[in-house]
Amino acid sequence: MEETDKQMTDRILVTQSSMPPFEEYVEMIKPLWENHWLTNMGQYHKELESELEKFLDVPKISLMVNGHMALELAIQSMKFPEGGEVITTPFTFISTTHAIIRNKLKPVFCDVRDDYTIDYEKIEDLITDKTVAIVPVHVYGNICNIEEIQEIAYKYDLKVIYDAAHAFGEKYKGESVARFGDMSVLSFHATKVFNAIEGGAVCCHRKEQYEKLYNLKNFGIRSEELVVSVGGNAKMNEFQAAMGLCNLKHIEAEIQKRKVLVDRYRELLMNTSGIRLNEYQKDVIPNYAYFPVLFDTPKIRNEIYQKLMEHGIYSRKYFYPLTADQACFRNRYRKLNLEHARYFSERILVLPLYAALTLEQIERIAGLLIESIAMA
Ligand SMILES: *Cc1c(COP(=O)(O)O)cnc(C)c1O
Repeated sequence: MEETDKQMTDRILVTQSSMPPFEEYVEMIKPLWENHWLTNMGQYHKELESELEKFLDVPKISLMVNGHMALELAIQSMKFPEGGEVITTPFTFISTTHAIIRNKLKPVFCDVRDDYTIDYEKIEDLITDKTVAIVPVHVYGNICNIEEIQEIAYKYDLKVIYDAAHAFGEKYKGESVARFGDMSVLSFHATKVFNAIEGGAVCCHRKEQYEKLYNLKNFGIRSEELVVSVGGNAKMNEFQAAMGLCNLKHIEAEIQKRKVLVDRYRELLMNTSGIRLNEYQKDVIPNYAYFPVLFDTPKIRNEIYQKLMEHGIYSRKYFYPLTADQACFRNRYRKLNLEHARYFSERILVLPLYAALTLEQIERIAGLLIESIAMA
């Protein structure tokens, strides 16, 4: 029994949610017991929207109950014709693909590049007269080829909606990543670099976009007696917004802590043969959201995954399988040549990384990995 307890406390999960000091959160939510205003675009909702607009340098931000609904409503707000095709990546969290399909659109899967993001050089081949949009993902915080993608979008008159769930707070050539595309979508899920327990946001450029999203997330209600359009409910509540405001105060320190850990991982694993580390991109200020390691073969990847687990270290095969291969829509959608995406998917492992991890834990994980590879 004692041993089990010890094993439990020694357990290292792939991530651990960042939380502000308890007192800070309690202090923040105390007024809610006085004003009883728990949701419906309350004070904290307003504050978090404006704080994030400042922090991310985005003209308008619409907060949502979670990242998935942010993505779904961002796409819905564009009013694409039913059956329209959306070029996207299969190397992502299932949410990206579901958001497209739940809008009655068809995902068209495009292969990825060495940095795991959509291969812009293969996008044009997939465009048909039904194509309406491109939904790329900044995978692991690696930024897509935004200039090239924008050029294609202009040429074919397509919208671009970035799933920027992995890229909170990042900059590309000095510009906030949240500004890219027609809209960029963020997730503030508990497991993300910045969290609001659950939460998400659509980053947009114009007031009209913001108003459309407001209607979609709040039943189209504009005043007590006026409903202007059909909408659902995807509002962020005050407890979430309060958590977001508290966490935002510590975000820079959080990212700095992650950087120190990532630097140590890299130092330890740099010269290990049989693996490839994620290269940080030129011109990008990263947020150190994930630490993916690519192995030479699927067999070794799976062995290391197992081996780490036996030692209470929980890495993740993120993203495996490809969303295009998932049981729920296997073979329903076009997926031509996904050679690279499939290659990465079968060989990738995301190692534990979160601000509260210690250098000793990083050393233990890296040591085990090196030892296991040598024996594999
Ligand atoms: C987390 C995530 C989402 C969904 O966000 P939730 O807040 O969990 O709903 C979408 N896409 C990607 C790439 C994600 O990592």
